[in-house]
Amino acid sequence: MLRKNRLFTPGPTPLLPAAQTAMASFSLHHRTGDFRALFTRVLTDMKEFIGTKNDVLVLACSGTGVMEAAVSNLTSPGDKVLVLTAGKFGERWRDLAKAFGCSVELFSAPYGATISLDDVRRKFTPEVRAVYMQATESSTGARHDVEGIAKLVRAAGDETMLVIDAITGLGTTHFNVDGWGIDLIIGGSQKALMIPPGLAYCAVSERAWKRMESTKSPRYYFDLRKERKAAAKGESAYTPATSLFAALAAALDYVRQMGDGDLAAGREALINNAELAAEMTRAGAHALGLQLFAPSAPAAALTAIQSPAGVDSGQIVKEFRESFGAVVANGQGEMKGKLFRIAHLGYYDYLDTIGILAALEHVLTTVTGKPVPYGAAVRAAQEVYAKHNAQTQESVEA
Ligand SMILES: *Cc1c(COP(=O)(O)O)cnc(C)c1O
Repeated sequence: MLRKNRLFTPGPTPLLPAAQTAMASFSLHHRTGDFRALFTRVLTDMKEFIGTKNDVLVLACSGTGVMEAAVSNLTSPGDKVLVLTAGKFGERWRDLAKAFGCSVELFSAPYGATISLDDVRRKFTPEVRAVYMQATESSTGARHDVEGIAKLVRAAGDETMLVIDAITGLGTTHFNVDGWGIDLIIGGSQKALMIPPGLAYCAVSERAWKRMESTKSPRYYFDLRKERKAAAKGESAYTPATSLFAALAAALDYVRQMGDGDLAAGREALINNAELAAEMTRAGAHALGLQLFAPSAPAAALTAIQSPAGVDSGQIVKEFRESFGAVVANGQGEMKGKLFRIAHLGYYDYLDTIGILAALEHVLTTVTGKPVPYGAAVRAAQEVYAKHNAQTQESVEA
C-alpha cells in the first residue's frame, strides 16, 4: 500500500496545516507595527496556554536554549543546585549546571522510574539555590510529581528557584504554574504546539526576576532581562523567528477553537486528547503482551514500550518506517535498542492512534516471527475509547 510519512516522535511532532499555511505566506519585518501587534498577541495567548499570569518570553532557539537560560540567569558560579534526574533530559540539567560552575547536588532515579517525593525530601535543604527537573522525561516516558516537589520547595521559602523543563509537559499535563509557585517553566515549539522546531518559551515568576538582579553567571543572547524589556515594547531583543511567530499564532487559534473560543478550555482539551491517546496506546501495548518502560507513572506526552526479549528496538523502528511510513523513536543513549517511543502530544487524533496500534500488530509479527492475534491491540484501544466516550456522555447528562 501507499505509505504516508507520519511522525510519531516526541518532537518534532506532526504540523498543524493551518500553521504551515500561515508560515508559508508570512513576510512581515519584525520592527513594524503589524509585527509588534502579532508578537504582543502571541505573548498574551501564550500566558493562557501555559496557564500563568507571569511574564512569558518566546526565544528563537530549541528547548535547550531556554534550559541554558534557566541556569545562566538564575545562578552564580559556586551556587548549590539540586538536579532531579531519571533520564537523558535530566542529565542535560546536570551538564548545564556544571557548565556554568554550579555545585551540583544530584538526585538520580533509575531510568523508567518517577522521582520519589520522599527521596527528594531527604536531599532537599533550604540552602539549595535552585531545583531543576522535568515534568515529563521524554527519554523514558515517565511523569514526575511537579506539584509535590513544588510544595516541598515553596514550604522552605522564597530562596529556592523551582525550574521545570515542561518541554513535553506543557499541553499534556495539568499544571497550576502560579498556584504551585513554579519560578521558570519551559516549553518548545516542536512539541504540543504543533509547529516546527525553532522557538522555545518560558514563564518567569517575580521571584525569578528578583534573583536575576544578583546572579553572576555569564549570559548575552539568553539574557532574559533584556528580552523582558524588549517584549514590553512588543519586540524581541534580536531578530525573532518571524514566520514561526505566524505559525504559533495559528496554532494558538486552533487550541482556542478546541475550547470553543476559550484558550484555557482549549488547553485542557489538548491535554485530555493526549491523555486519551496515551491510555489507548498503553492498553494496546498490554494486550499484545508488551511491557511499558515507565509503568509506575506513565506520561501522556508519549508512551515508551520495551522491546520484546531478543528483539532490538531498532528493528521495530525500522519496520514501522519501511512498511508504514511511521516514524517512531528509538531509545536514547543506554536505552537505545531496548525501547521504542510513540508520541501523543499535539496534533494526534483517534485515527492516528488506532492506526499506529494496528501497524504495531504487523510490526511485532514481522520482527518476532510469531503471529500476533490481529485486532488485539486495536480492540483494547477501542474499549478505552468507548468507555471514555460513555463517561463523557454521562457527565454531560448529569
Ligand atoms: C525535546 C525536549 C527538550 C529540548 O530539546 P531541544 O532539542 O533542545 O528542543 C528538553 N527536554 C525535554 C523533556 C524534551 O522532550
